[in-house]
Order: sequence, then C-alpha cells, then structure tokens
Amino acid sequence: MKITPVKQRKQKPDFSKLGFGKYFTDYMMVMNYDGAAGGWGEPEIVPFDDFSVNPACSSLHYGQGIFEGLKAYKNSKGEVTMFRPRDNFVRMNRSAERLCMPTFDSDVALNALVELVKLEEEWIPTLPGTALYIRPFMFGTEPFLGVHPSHKYTLCIILSPVGSYYEHGLEPTKLIVETELTRASKGGTGEAKCMGNYACSLLAGERAKQKGYDQVLWLDGAEKKYVEEVGAMNMFFVIDGTVVTPMLDGSILRGITRDSALTVLRAHGYKVEERHVPIAEVVEAYKNGKLDEAFGSGTAAVISPVGTIAYGDLIMEINGGKMGDITAWLYDRITGIQTERYPDEFGWVYRVG
Ligand SMILES: *Cc1c(COP(=O)(O)O)cnc(C)c1O
Repeated sequence: MKITPVKQRKQKPDFSKLGFGKYFTDYMMVMNYDGAAGGWGEPEIVPFDDFSVNPACSSLHYGQGIFEGLKAYKNSKGEVTMFRPRDNFVRMNRSAERLCMPTFDSDVALNALVELVKLEEEWIPTLPGTALYIRPFMFGTEPFLGVHPSHKYTLCIILSPVGSYYEHGLEPTKLIVETELTRASKGGTGEAKCMGNYACSLLAGERAKQKGYDQVLWLDGAEKKYVEEVGAMNMFFVIDGTVVTPMLDGSILRGITRDSALTVLRAHGYKVEERHVPIAEVVEAYKNGKLDEAFGSGTAAVISPVGTIAYGDLIMEINGGKMGDITAWLYDRITGIQTERYPDEFGWVYRVG
C-alpha cells in the first residue's frame, strides 16, 4: 500500500487527559471512488490533513455521508487488537446501500485499517478505559447541484486516542423522553449510520441539556409509543429480572455493542427479550417497583448505566439512581473480553499484526 510519510510526527498529548475525539494521529487512510473511472481506487495512507473539496461537493448539499466507530486496544502483553472490526465494515456497506452510495470490499478496507493502526501503534493509549478510537467515514464529492446520487466518493479513516468515557467513574446518566421531535421513523434512515440522523437529533439534545439531562430517549416516529434508542446508544431495561431491549425493525441502529450484550447475557443464562417496548410498560414497571435497571450500549461508553428517566411530569429514578448488578456485570464482562481479562469466547478480538 502506498504510504506518504509525514515530515515530522506531532507531539503526543497527555494520555491521562485525552477526553473524547479531540486529538488526531499523524496519518489517515484515504480511498477514492469514481464511477466513470472504474469504481474504487487503491487505498492510500497519507498525512492527516485538511481536505480540499469543491463548493458544489454533493455531500455538502444533499447529505450523502455515513460513518462508523470502533476501537483498537493494546493488551497487557503489548499486542494490538480491535473489537469486531469486520462487523463495522459490513454495517457501513449496509448504510452505503441505503444512501445510494457505492459499497466497497470489506477486506480491502479492513486490511488498510490494519496497516494504518500498525503505523500509529505509538498513539494507542494503555491506561484503563482508554483506547484508540477509529472513525471510518464516506462522503459524496462530485461537484454538481442536481439531485442524483454522486458519482464520486471518498472513504477515509481517521484515528483519535480517547480517554475513559467515565472520567468520574461509572456515573449513571439522566435521560429525558422526547415526546415532540422525531429522530427516525420506519422506512427512513434510522438503521443507517448516516450524518443526517445526528443533525436532526441535535435540537432535542440541546433542549435536554438546558433542562439538566444528559441525553434524549427517543420514541418511535409514528405513534410516540415505543422506546427506540438514545441517539448514539441502544437502550436496555431490566424489568422484573428480564433484560428487555427494543427489537430491530428498521428505525434503530444495529449496534455491535447491543449484539455483544445480548450474546453475552444469553450465554450466561440471563433471560433476554428483543421486542417492542412500550414506554407505558416502562412506566408501569416503575410504578410497580419492577423497573430494576436501565442502561445504554455503544462503542464509546460500552455500557452506560441510566439513573434517571424523565417522561412528561414523571421522573423515574431507577435503582436509587445507582448502577444495577446486571449493568455492572455486563460492563465488566464486555470490557473484560475487549481487554482480554476474560477469554474471547465468541471470537470477537481481532489481532493486528
Ligand atoms: C453508533 C450508534 C449506536 C451504537 O452502535 P455500536 O455499534 O454499539 O457502537 C447506537 N445508536 C446509534 C444511532 C448509533 O449511531
């Protein structure tokens, strides 16, 4: 693979104060697509730098843009690993299909990512909870103002060393149920990891913050009756001892952490249900003292305990606002597999090199 060397490597930030997504490594991977010139070109590694785009660049106007998020780790033996990376490229291709963007060979992208991560090994932080966050993304680049799928695209991967999502420990988050605005609806792009899903969720997120909540819990777009997800996390409840999560029916994202959580829970004998989850059922369970726990799942935080859910005038404090036992068990189990404290019983740990 062609690699253009940097003149000089950047100074590394303090790895104990990374935060999330603030620092970027020396290199990035770029692969371009031109429909008129035979499709995808070869992946290349180039210095991390600004892009130059035409002002008529299609993604700036019509939003053909998708992304992914995954992590690389360095284990106690100094070996570099990634967590389920193939699944991210498979999902990215599904997102591409939904947005009329060209699909790509997942193996080509994964091999290019492996080369990039090897080159940037010194950027992988090793303190507990830290990782090298990997952000693949693709956007339309053809300069035209007519509405049709772009004929040119760029697929790029950038890397960012990130700190523990929980700088102050595993503090439960506060959610507010959105009863007016909609993030996604059946037949829309909710299942695709596309830029637009985030743009349309920002207003509700800002309003939630003004009211003192961390994030929004979205309901279905048509009836506002069923729980969907938290915008960047899938949602789980423990109701009367059973772990319940909204089923995948087209408008919520197929979280890889969601799948990992379900697989681990089932394998260890927990009762798990994937189905429609009416918000009325959550309220009912809360009122009957049967809403044992609530948590979200996603690559950034892995498992995030939920301490409070506000729905209209009702403020539900779950498990006394503290992390529940199943949530804590799951967090330990999944992060343990990722960092190889536990055996990789499902073949999720991918070795780089
Ligand atoms: C990325 C994302 C998630 C979490 O997916 P993971 O694969 O677990 O990281 C959940 N919901 C939305 C809307 C997302 O974009």
